[in-house]
Amino acid sequence: MLYFDPKTAKPYRDSLQTYIEKGRLRIIDFWGEQQCKPLFIYCSNKASFEKYGSPIPVPALTHIKLGARIVISEEGVDQDIIAHELMHAELYQRIGFYKWSFKIPRWFDEGLAMQSDYRNYYSEDTLKALSDNFKNLPDLRTLETGAQFNSGSREKIMFNYMTAAHEIRKWYTKEKMDKFIKAMNAGKSFEESYNQ
Ligand SMILES: [Zn+2]
Repeated sequence: MLYFDPKTAKPYRDSLQTYIEKGRLRIIDFWGEQQCKPLFIYCSNKASFEKYGSPIPVPALTHIKLGARIVISEEGVDQDIIAHELMHAELYQRIGFYKWSFKIPRWFDEGLAMQSDYRNYYSEDTLKALSDNFKNLPDLRTLETGAQFNSGSREKIMFNYMTAAHEIRKWYTKEKMDKFIKAMNAGKSFEESYNQ
């Protein structure tokens, strides 16, 4: 389901529909199926994005109170950003509001979302160059909360995203992911579920 603000121009509507559909295919590719059917809200101007989305300037974000809602600003009309938000929504759907909000460290959530987000400047190659062949990476334990993850310069925050993505890329197999979700839903801690 997709809501537009009435002033949305037709090319934006068409692009969004296409990106949502292609994003869905990336989710299916990663998870095997899409369980979350989020509501999409497109805001064509800053004021409505601030109201429905976020007062902080981000291109898009996912709200999960009362079901997943992905709010998209003009800059968020982008294939990778929409696929990224769909991944947040999918994790939420599989473990529920409480665990998503309180038990998942931010680096995991963002690292996972990056698996369907192919933006080139967040690539493994970029990280490899920036981190002296992955030797100088931030400690993930210092990136647990949203405030920790998003603090510092723009470059530092991008570095956090790349590091989180790298960690999940090393960890991920479809089987591990399924086991992880099962363990979380059985009430195990994040650490236990992640390291089993
Ligand atoms: Zn994200």
